[in-house]
Amino acid sequence: MITAEKELHFGNPLWSSHPSRNLPVDVIRKDLRTDVVIIGAGISGSMIAEELTDAGLKVVILDKRYPGHGSTMATTALLQFEIDQPLVRLIPLLGYEKAARAWRRAKLCTESLAVRIQMLGISCGLHLQQSLYLNGNKLSVDELRKEMELRNQIGLQSEFIKRKKLFDEYGLHAAAALRSYHSYSAHPYRLSNGFLLKALERGAAVYSPVAVSDISSSPRRVYIQTSYGFNITARYAVFATGYEVPEYLSDQPFKIYSTWAMATPKQADSSLKRLPLIWEAADPYLYIRPTPDGRIICGGEDEEFSNEERRNALNTSKLPAIQRKLSKLLPQIDTSAEFAWSGAFGVTSSGLPLIGDVPGLDNCFAVMAFGGNGITWSRMGAEMIRNLITGKEEIDEDLVRFHRK
Ligand SMILES: Cc1cc2nc3c(=O)[nH]c(=O)nc-3n(C[C@H](O)[C@H](O)[C@H](O)COP(=O)(O)OP(=O)(O)OC[C@H]3O[C@@H](n4cnc5c(N)ncnc54)[C@H](O)[C@@H]3O)c2cc1C
Repeated sequence: MITAEKELHFGNPLWSSHPSRNLPVDVIRKDLRTDVVIIGAGISGSMIAEELTDAGLKVVILDKRYPGHGSTMATTALLQFEIDQPLVRLIPLLGYEKAARAWRRAKLCTESLAVRIQMLGISCGLHLQQSLYLNGNKLSVDELRKEMELRNQIGLQSEFIKRKKLFDEYGLHAAAALRSYHSYSAHPYRLSNGFLLKALERGAAVYSPVAVSDISSSPRRVYIQTSYGFNITARYAVFATGYEVPEYLSDQPFKIYSTWAMATPKQADSSLKRLPLIWEAADPYLYIRPTPDGRIICGGEDEEFSNEERRNALNTSKLPAIQRKLSKLLPQIDTSAEFAWSGAFGVTSSGLPLIGDVPGLDNCFAVMAFGGNGITWSRMGAEMIRNLITGKEEIDEDLVRFHRK
């Protein structure tokens, strides 16, 4: 296999209780020729397929699982522009200009994702949300104020909220928060399938389950070998394989962590449906979102290892830890877990994704939409890959390109 093999999630993710298996996927029966092969039919591959078919390209999508059953099934789908690394931390890492550009692009990507969903009429429970970023061991209350000033300086409006107001407005027990507007939440599996269906309507083909076992390329063509023995010849290939990173990119600066999440039963208090997205400037951190039917999703407790046996063995201690923290912040919530799952989670030190052409492999691109803003970065990946393949200038390419030796 040319990509890492992982158990991407374990347990019962909320979305797996109502997946729609109505996608017209096919099994591969012969050799094929196409413009672009996309490897991976998760949220990244689906958005890339939609963009490329919109650009008039002939697209084939391959997945070794059923589409959307990788990390896309495990995500909690907070669609935020607020990057894992706040500006106060990102500016020392990248410099002011690049850090500001990264944050602004993230903002544009959340907006363009929401607009694209509406333009295409994708029904995925898209919900406009406020977001609260709480102080924690990564950012003190004073640093939170500094973060607000930096955000406002580059046009990303946010406001400082004190303890009393947090309690009065949300029943939330926390010292301080930055409140921002225009984040979103959605049903990730429907979102992913919605984009894929649009690509299919425009003539794309999805083959599943089909694993890509080998790839080679020349300056004009890419040759893809599949697990069924059939080959595909294309002008371009795009890896959208999530945390199952292609071997060509295994030396890139990323790490695979373990993470845990849960969803409560529908809460009796219907006002909880209006909770904002909540996340902490802490390590380990906690994040919270409501669902339209009144559940509370909560996750975090990330650990810096990827061993799956160790990860799953920790489920019994991680879940109570999440419940305790949730109950401390929002004591009015029923914190019992109707759904609970663990998963792999890819991170980079900057919180930015890795996107661009694959070093040493002509005509091949990859989108590694890592970090807490994975889906926002999938959007960035789709827009960038369209620009790169269609020969357009891509102004933020330098922020996310793969490292060369
Ligand atoms: C618990 C949890 C919570 C999260 N919460 C959030 C959140 O709130 N907001 C957010 O933005 N992000 C969040 N994320 C991250 C988000 O889930 C990911 O960024 C996103 O799902 C990645 O999508 P993808 O399409 O890149 O990867 P995937 O969905 O994993 O899709 C990749 C596909 O590639 C296929 N594949 C791999 N190798 C091959 C091969 N050789 N041949 C054929 N097919 C192959 C796989 O089968 C898979 O279906 C969370 C993740 C987890 C685990």
